[in-house]
Amino acid sequence: MTPDVQVAVVGGGPIGLMTALFAADAGLDVVVIEPREAPIDKACGEGLMPGAWRLLRRLGLEPPGADLLGVAYVQGARRAEHRFERGIGRGVKRTTLHAAIAARVAERGIRVVRGRADAITQHDSYVILGGPGLETLTAAHVVGADGLHSRVRELVGLGAGPQRASRRRFGVRRHYALAPWSDLIEVRWTPSAEFYVTPLGPDLVGLALLGRRGASFESALADEPELAERIGADADGESPAQVGHVRGAGPLQQRTRARTAGRVLLVGDASGYVDALTGEGLRLGIAQAEAAVAAVVAEDPRGYEREWTHITRDFRMLTGGLVTAAGSPLRTAIVPTAVRLPRVYAGIVERLAR
Ligand SMILES: Cc1cc2nc3c(=O)[nH]c(=O)nc-3n(C[C@H](O)[C@H](O)[C@H](O)COP(=O)(O)OP(=O)(O)OC[C@H]3O[C@@H](n4cnc5c(N)ncnc54)[C@H](O)[C@@H]3O)c2cc1C
Repeated sequence: MTPDVQVAVVGGGPIGLMTALFAADAGLDVVVIEPREAPIDKACGEGLMPGAWRLLRRLGLEPPGADLLGVAYVQGARRAEHRFERGIGRGVKRTTLHAAIAARVAERGIRVVRGRADAITQHDSYVILGGPGLETLTAAHVVGADGLHSRVRELVGLGAGPQRASRRRFGVRRHYALAPWSDLIEVRWTPSAEFYVTPLGPDLVGLALLGRRGASFESALADEPELAERIGADADGESPAQVGHVRGAGPLQQRTRARTAGRVLLVGDASGYVDALTGEGLRLGIAQAEAAVAAVVAEDPRGYEREWTHITRDFRMLTGGLVTAAGSPLRTAIVPTAVRLPRVYAGIVERLAR
């Protein structure tokens, strides 16, 4: 039988939409399935590392935001800074980023179906998708880009089981209508959580708090008086400068045992995620989207598995190692070590920036 489409992308977040754009560029007939209307918001540190910003600009996508010139690690009075040596990153409000990619998808005439994939049946030469809003849709390949709690991953049995509850980490994002005080991403280390501070525009700063369940803005800001003062927070952690919606996400770590099952491929957070501490999700997801489409064109899912392993190597090793250290007695040594060994710190930031 001839499937309805060559590629069905489940999930219209940034990585699903980028997958659809790469597929259309490759001449494939593609449809995106997404239950929510654009622009879609989500908890995110909203920092595009230079690699992600370069990839977006290559496609002519330049949403407004703030230039990011490097990364600073801050703990009390200690501060390690590194400015990117090749290129710059960009802080972009999540809805602005999503709107820009969604507009390009619409311009390209790519169909977005308002629905939720909830059933998958694989056959030799096609896949049947079902779920609310879909009835049935057949596709030669399905790309699961449905985020941290991927239903596609679950349906095709690619999940590798949950992390121990005591190790799970979560993220919460808030926005403040303030002029940024730095052109760097600041990661501020409190004794038990990290603030990821991103300039997002001339009058907007984003704060993402990362930590174990129960980490609160209130207690983390009490440990970060300089940051609390900058955002004008009171003793309850509330600030009159706070704007927009608060968004949360987690558990952050999602493990997968493989990224392909038959004609189904996983990209973005659905394909496995370590943590937001190094701000790389979008860079990796875009690279995965491109690689997944190349594998579909080549009818070579195993090729995607190899590429995925290559693309995520540093993320799994460096971010995984950093998160382990952050949850151990070594935590308090992280920033002092970065200050003492500036070349090591610079080398790590440069690797994350690629
Ligand atoms: C607190 C925090 C801070 C972060 N900071 C950064 C940062 O600074 N820089 C960076 O690069 N990355 C950061 N990340 C990671 C980044 O946000 C993610 O990697 C990125 O959003 C992944 O995009 P995605 O498209 O894969 O998933 P998502 O953006 O989660 O999109 C998934 C989409 O799938 C849809 N969906 C879900 N289920 C179904 C279904 N059954 N059928 C159809 N559609 C479905 C959802 O509605 C959603 O729109 C951060 C993450 C967190 C949590």
